[in-house]
Amino acid sequence: MTRDEILGAFDRMRVWQRGDQRAVHKPLLVLYALAKVGAGDTATIDWNEAEPHLKALLDELGPDGSGSSRHHPFWHLQTDGLWQLEGPPSILTRPPSATPTLGELRAHHVRGGFPTAVREALIRDPQLLATIARRIVDAHFPESIRPDVLAAVGLPAHLTEAASTVEQLRRRDPAFREKVLLAYQYRCGVCGHNLRLGHQPIGLEAAHIKWFQAKGPDVVPNGIALCSLHHKVFDLGAFTILPDSYQMIFSQHLNGSDDSAEKMLAYHGASLILPQSRDYMPQPEFLDWHRKQVFKSPQRSLG
Ligand SMILES: [Zn+2]
Repeated sequence: MTRDEILGAFDRMRVWQRGDQRAVHKPLLVLYALAKVGAGDTATIDWNEAEPHLKALLDELGPDGSGSSRHHPFWHLQTDGLWQLEGPPSILTRPPSATPTLGELRAHHVRGGFPTAVREALIRDPQLLATIARRIVDAHFPESIRPDVLAAVGLPAHLTEAASTVEQLRRRDPAFREKVLLAYQYRCGVCGHNLRLGHQPIGLEAAHIKWFQAKGPDVVPNGIALCSLHHKVFDLGAFTILPDSYQMIFSQHLNGSDDSAEKMLAYHGASLILPQSRDYMPQPEFLDWHRKQVFKSPQRSLG
């Protein structure tokens, strides 16, 4: 297979999608397997070895509950021509829709990995491996958390430094950032951070509520001005914003040593610092998407 054929096959990978739910199963399996190839591991991975990693990745980076179908991509990636399995014929000869159970994959030690031609090309050309990894991360995760995604799967964080390919394909509104910062009067909607050097804001970003990767639009009601820390914490799902009261609600999964956790959790139940005009208020449909697709439930109790 040529370099372009392999890139094309990964670009065409079918990702299960219903409405605007985030589907990150196949992308995370591919990233995990790319890291394995990069580390020089064996050609195929025993399901029993991969399972705890895939579950942890889906729990951490996928929507709530996605860890329960962690075995699906291990089977379905075959139909994209990007995966091959080793195991008993009683399992391997099943039709594509007959996904084996978790118990079957475990008991038979079914092994999976990239097809030999793909694997050999990736070993020959580490640049190809890096390009595929970067395209997948760009297509499924916002910039603020891409280094976290790469670290979680075991790939080097510098892969995200090159220009973003997906964002080049779909041109973004260059004025989005400026409009959002102005709407929030150049301060973080959570903590009010507004540090500047001369006129230049430092560490202040325009966050998308509904991710660009989920076709969230570049409009001010889909944006919030957030400092770098609160942007990352928002994109990782540690807190969300209630559409009726604009109260910030934190996840029970957020924890840390006394000082850092206390500082963050001081905002639990507080109202977002609202934009300067009603026209700019975060729109409920975008907040609902964030709550369902990004926030890590259960929430901490209020009051
Ligand atoms: Zn902040």
